[in-house]
Amino acid sequence: MPYSHLLAPLDLGHVTLKNRVLMGSMHTGLEETGDWNRVAEFYATRARGGVGLMVTGGMAPNREGGVFPGAAGLFSDQDIENHRLVTDRVHQAGGRIAMQILHAGRYAYSKDCVSASAIKSPISPFAPRALDAEGIEAQISAIVTAAQRAQAAGYDGVEVMGSEGYFLNQFLVRHTNTRTDDWGGSYANRMRLPVEVVRRVRAAVGPNFILIYRISLIDLVPDGSTWDEVVLLARAVEAAGASLLNTGIGWHEARVPTIATSVPRAAFSYLTARLRPEVSIPVITSNRINSPDVAEALLAEGAADMVSMARPFLADPDFVAKAAAGRADLIAPCIACNQACLDHTFSGKLTSCLVNPRACHETVLSYPPSLSPKRVAVVGAGPAGMMAALVAAQRGHQVVLFDRANALGGQLNLARRVPGKEEFDGLVDWFAASILAAKIDLRLGALAEVEDLHGFDEVVIATGVVPRDIALAGQERALSYIEVLQGAPVGPRVAVIGAGGIGFDVAEFLVAGPHLLAQDPAAWRREWGVGDPADVAGGLVQPLPEAPQREVWLLQRKAEKLGRHLGKTTGWIHRAALAMKGVKMIGGVSYLGIEPEGLRIARDGVEQVLPVDTVVLCAGQMPERGLAERLTLAGIAHHVIGGADLAAELDAKRAIDQGARLAAGF
Ligand code: NAP
Ligand code: SF4
Repeated sequence: MPYSHLLAPLDLGHVTLKNRVLMGSMHTGLEETGDWNRVAEFYATRARGGVGLMVTGGMAPNREGGVFPGAAGLFSDQDIENHRLVTDRVHQAGGRIAMQILHAGRYAYSKDCVSASAIKSPISPFAPRALDAEGIEAQISAIVTAAQRAQAAGYDGVEVMGSEGYFLNQFLVRHTNTRTDDWGGSYANRMRLPVEVVRRVRAAVGPNFILIYRISLIDLVPDGSTWDEVVLLARAVEAAGASLLNTGIGWHEARVPTIATSVPRAAFSYLTARLRPEVSIPVITSNRINSPDVAEALLAEGAADMVSMARPFLADPDFVAKAAAGRADLIAPCIACNQACLDHTFSGKLTSCLVNPRACHETVLSYPPSLSPKRVAVVGAGPAGMMAALVAAQRGHQVVLFDRANALGGQLNLARRVPGKEEFDGLVDWFAASILAAKIDLRLGALAEVEDLHGFDEVVIATGVVPRDIALAGQERALSYIEVLQGAPVGPRVAVIGAGGIGFDVAEFLVAGPHLLAQDPAAWRREWGVGDPADVAGGLVQPLPEAPQREVWLLQRKAEKLGRHLGKTTGWIHRAALAMKGVKMIGGVSYLGIEPEGLRIARDGVEQVLPVDTVVLCAGQMPERGLAERLTLAGIAHHVIGGADLAAELDAKRAIDQGARLAAGF
């Protein structure tokens, strides 16, 4: 059997999970829409895909514990009825689901937030109110009541969120708990709250209900838990009645990336492996696990009893079913970009997925079989064109996909060359395998022209973008980002013109050495200052970044902080990565020309020549619409998508979404 460890059942006593795969908790925003049919369909789709156990997004136990005002929770009988729709639909689909109880503590975006002590978080504008003993009791009761309501709503269990710097975690560490009463001071006192919560929840729900406790293995904040404390807590939580220990890595305010694409796969699973022998209940490992091979290897080597993946189930609800069928190559991979999931969540938008626009849109976007199959031509095999071709073919249309290049991927082939963006390899591979499986007539190395496009029912132009010509004096001495990413020789001192997503990518490419940190977790930990919680509380040490390969100036004309328009949850990582390499990030620049001595710029009215050997142009793109214009002249109707449609603020998310939606309507 493929993936024999991953697909093995897990006996929890009163219930047996059908495999070792947990869909981790994600806030999707669906509950807050009030459309419970849509919520139910989101989870039921994943249940049908074979996952062993799912955990819902965090549900608030009371108003002050909600992540934001109006956050979903289980407050009333009506809420119980709503949630019953979800649990019924999941059970009908053969799945199991636990509800996460999330009390945000000082991370609640509200002036009414509460915590152990009145210490404001650096990522929140609100200082919490320190709870008195009565207030603590009220929070425990609210969490217990939420668990009872979850049981009444038909859930198979609950997950008590004790990691990521939320309420229970805030009591555990001196960083946020300076109390001197029974709930602070010694570790026995600091861990009293989470242990009491687990004990009281178990007493309330009885033995035949899954109780997962999510424990922080490494806080990555100063004065966080030590490893001995983590072990003490794990044992105490087990004794208090937890059935499973799920693991969390890093507080939300930590300045170390923990789930971004540049984090090596399974980078923190060594900590789960270390915890596992300390307890007798099953432990679940998590963070940057996105393929059945990685998950299987972790289980086979005994690092954990179960593997949690969250975002991979946005990318592909059928992850488990495809792995079980021996078609892991057809699993749409989560590339850990955060662009359509966490970036949306933090912008107040519904979650979706860059590689799967149907995620969280299951009831409003579908790809039904076509009743009248058409002949469809797609020109351009970048993300927009590939997705349009794939969805059209999966619906039963006959599709021809042209690209003048000899390989699929378009701009994805540039992204995948950037250190820390290796996951793009998997995305291109998935498109290739899926296009083959969908029997698309793929014509690579084929420059499609007007005469090739007669006789199709639908013609889709996805010819992408060309670099913007900025008409700078001396620009014949410069290199384009395409040349650089394709390996053109670059000198030791470089100016990068343009600080959008591509300027940042190119700067990271230029300062990185041949050593790929994403494939060397120990080196990656040194780079970001991840120590061992057995040596230092919280596991935070001085970062020791590898020396930059080049001296780089990253420039833009706008007089604002560079990288402001990068991803909401990842921009800080790119800025920090470049700052660690000494990249000089300068805004408010006018470009005057490229001279033999370097790049002449003006700033605040003062001219200077940056003494660089190479200038790289990353000044945005323009749509490539030549073919579309010739088709218009020839009177052939066509659709234009992706960068060819609109180059401004183009990214793979928009391209894939546009391709999918267009083909869903054929
Ligand atoms: P972009 O984000 O639009 O950035 C273009 C840059 O060029 C800006 O910094 C702009 O800054 C500068 N620029 C524009 N016109 C210029 C001119 N005439 N002369 C000099 N500089 C000029 O485009 P991009 O970097 O090419 O990226 C394309 C798309 O891919 C973006 O939407 C981006 O989000 C996406 N992408 C995303 C990521 C990611 O990590 N999520 C990575 C790569 C690409 P000033 O106008 O201030 O000079
Ligand atoms: Fe993964 Fe990106 Fe999809 Fe989020 S948007 S689930 S990070 S691929």
